[in-house]
Parts: sequence; structure tokens; C-alpha cells
Amino acid sequence: MKKMMELKINENIYPVYLKRSKRIKTSLSVNDNLEIIISSPRNISESEFKKIIEKASSWIKNEVCKKQKLYNQRKVEDFKKGKVIWLNGKCYDLIPNHKQITNHLIKDNAIYISKNFSYKKVYGEVIEKVKKIFNYYKTKLDFVPKDAILNFKYYKSRWGVCYFRKKEVVLNDLMAILPDNLIEYIVVHELLHFKFHNHNKSFHDFLEKIILNHRLREKELVFFNSILYKKE
Ligand SMILES: [Zn+2]
Repeated sequence: MKKMMELKINENIYPVYLKRSKRIKTSLSVNDNLEIIISSPRNISESEFKKIIEKASSWIKNEVCKKQKLYNQRKVEDFKKGKVIWLNGKCYDLIPNHKQITNHLIKDNAIYISKNFSYKKVYGEVIEKVKKIFNYYKTKLDFVPKDAILNFKYYKSRWGVCYFRKKEVVLNDLMAILPDNLIEYIVVHELLHFKFHNHNKSFHDFLEKIILNHRLREKELVFFNSILYKKE
């Protein structure tokens, strides 16, 4: 199999391969490992290859999304077993490495880990990003007290909580597994509790003004909830 190109679908990168086969016709498939494969009895030029991909683009997108869902479900199980790690919305294989790595090394779809590797360090970079997003919205939303603080804690069953009287938002350390758009949704959701103390219609109307299609993000979050609730 020869890697010909990569396709970007919904922020994920998928490799596209050319595979020589004995079939008469050229065919297209997406396998369980999310590789897009064109099987052909003959060599295909790069421009021909691109044409095939372009013509089938909506079919590929559909198929990849279907397979991605199944793949994610499998990876939730693998995460519990410590075989993979989710980071900023992406799933990486965890590979023990005995060479000199301080903590971890991210390469392609894998994270190479040292003996004394800690999840906290891997999550650290994304947590810094969460803090930036928090500070951005804290300034932007005028009802958030200027001295409101952000803390992190490991929760088993929630992403965050807003103690509006204490002027404190506490977010789950596991926020680091989420993609940016869901981090943003949770941060804004919690900050809005400084203005609305429950999830009534005004809360959701206001949230929609800041996070467009926020109901869709809630739906996307359901998958990551399954990771959160199952861990441990
Ligand atoms: Zn809430």
C-alpha cells in the first residue's frame, strides 16, 4: 500500500492509500482503522487519483464519520485499559519507550511514554489553553467578577462547576481530553452561571448568542461523557 495523500474531515486527518489489487474495477473503501483505500488493478496517476477522491468526496465523508464513531467507542474501552490516551479531542496510542524521554513525546498518532510518565504532564499543555480561554471570556463577559478565579480538580461525573458566591469556577482536569470547541462550550457555560443560576430558557438563549449551535456541542459532548463516566 502506498500513501498518496491525506484528507481533512471535521478537523481530523485521514490517510489515503493506493492498493494494487487483482480486481477488474477500481474500488474505494474505508477500513476500521480509518484509512481510506483505493484498490486498483493498475497504477493510477496522481491527477486520476485526485479525481476519484473528488468525485466520491461526500460518500467518503459519510463513511469516515460512521467509522469514526465506531472507532471512538472502541477507543473508550482502550482508554480505560490504559492503551490509548485522549488529548485535545484526538486519540493517541500509548507506547512505552525505554529511551531517554523526560515524560512523553507526541509523534503522529502515538505518544511515547517514559517509565515515570504522568498523565498530568501530558494534559498540562491543554490545561494552559483552557486557562487562556477562561481568561478571554472572563474579560469579555462583563457580569463575571474581575476577581473570579479558576481552579482544577478531578471529577468523576462533571466537567465543571461554578461557585458564583465564592467567585470561583472549578473545571475537571480531564477537560484536557476535549477538542477546543467543547472546551470553549464548557468554559462559557460555567461563566454564564455568574448571571444565570440555573439552566432555564434565558440561560440557553444567552449561551446561543456566544456559542453558536451550542446544542450541537452538547450532543458532541455526550461521547466524551462516556469516557469521563467510565474512567476509574
Ligand atoms: Zn450548568
